[in-house]
Amino acid sequence: MKKFLCVVSGVILFGAFTAPAWDYEGHRMVNQIALASLPADFPAFIRAPAAQERVAFLAGEADRWRNTPDLPLKHCNGPDHYIDLDELEHYQLAPAALSHFRYEFVGQLAVARAAHPQNFPPIDEAKNEDKTRTLVGLLPWALTEYYGKLKSGFSYLKTFEAGGTPEEIANAQQNIIYIMGVMGHFAGDSTQPLHTTVHHHGWVGENPKRYATNSSIHAWVDGGYLNRAGIRFPEMSSRVRPAKVLSATSPNASSPDIFPTVMNFISNQHKLVEPLYQLNQDRSLSDHGEAGSKGRAFITQQLLVGGQFLGDLWYSAWQSAPADTYLKSQLARRKLAETAPAQAKP
Ligand SMILES: [Zn+2]
Repeated sequence: MKKFLCVVSGVILFGAFTAPAWDYEGHRMVNQIALASLPADFPAFIRAPAAQERVAFLAGEADRWRNTPDLPLKHCNGPDHYIDLDELEHYQLAPAALSHFRYEFVGQLAVARAAHPQNFPPIDEAKNEDKTRTLVGLLPWALTEYYGKLKSGFSYLKTFEAGGTPEEIANAQQNIIYIMGVMGHFAGDSTQPLHTTVHHHGWVGENPKRYATNSSIHAWVDGGYLNRAGIRFPEMSSRVRPAKVLSATSPNASSPDIFPTVMNFISNQHKLVEPLYQLNQDRSLSDHGEAGSKGRAFITQQLLVGGQFLGDLWYSAWQSAPADTYLKSQLARRKLAETAPAQAKP
C-alpha cells in the first residue's frame, strides 16, 4: 500500500461523482480508434481532416460541461458518465430488469428506496447539492439516447441528400459530426471499469483481499498511468478491426432498441473491476508502464474495446437509419410549391 501511495502521489484527487473517466487524451484516443474502424462504405464526409479532428476534439466535450458550476447542468450531466452496477442489489434490481427508459428507471429507483429504506444510509444533503445521490448513474441511457440521435441525423441526411439543398446537406453532416464526437465520450466512460462500480474511488465496504482504498486510484487509471506510460493512438491503430453492424440494430425491427446491447456491453466491462484492482495490487500499474507489461496491455485493451464499440454503434446507426418520412413529405410539398407558380404562368 505504501508503495502504491508513492506511485500515485502528485496525482490530482477527485471527489466521488466528479471524476471524468479517461482524461481528454484517453477519450480522444477512443474516438480516434472508432474513426479508424469505419469501413470504406461509411459516408465519406467524415474522412475530411477537419471532420476527423472535430470528432476527436469532441471526445472531451461532456467533461468540459462538468467544469461549469451550474447545479442544474451538474444534475443532468453528472450521472450520464457512470453506473454503479453493484449498487443495484440494494435496490433489489437486476440489470436485466431495468427499464430502458431513463425517467421510468429513475422512478424504479425511487420506488425501491421507499420499499427498502433500511438498505440506504441517510444522504448528507451538504454533499448533495446537485441532487444526484439517489441515482446510481445513467451511463447506459446516455449512450442509448445518443445512438438514437445519431440515427435520426443519418435519417434526415439521407432524406436531404435525395431532395434537400446543399446547405441542408452540409448542416446535417455537421450535426452528425457533433453527435458522433460527443457520444464517443460515453463509449469511453463505459470501458473505464471504475465508472461501472461503487468502488470508483477506492474499494469500499468488505475488503477481504485488501484492495486499495485510496480515492486517487481513479485519477491514476483515468490518465495518470496513461500519460506516464506514454500510451498513444499509433501503438493501437494496427489492432483496429473494421466496424460491424450490431445484431440488435436491424432496420426491419418493429421497435428498435439498442439498450440491451449497451447494457450487456457495460456489464462486461464491470467484470473487469476486480481484475483492475488486482493489477494495482500486483503493482502492474506502476508508473513505468513498459511495453508488454500487464497494466499497459489492460489499459490499451480498454481504450481499444471502447473505440471498437463506438465504431460499431456509429456504423450501425448509419446502416439502420431509415429515411425520415415526415421530412420526405415536407420536401415533396416544398418542391411542389416551388414548381407550381412557374407552371401556372402563361
Ligand atoms: Zn465522463
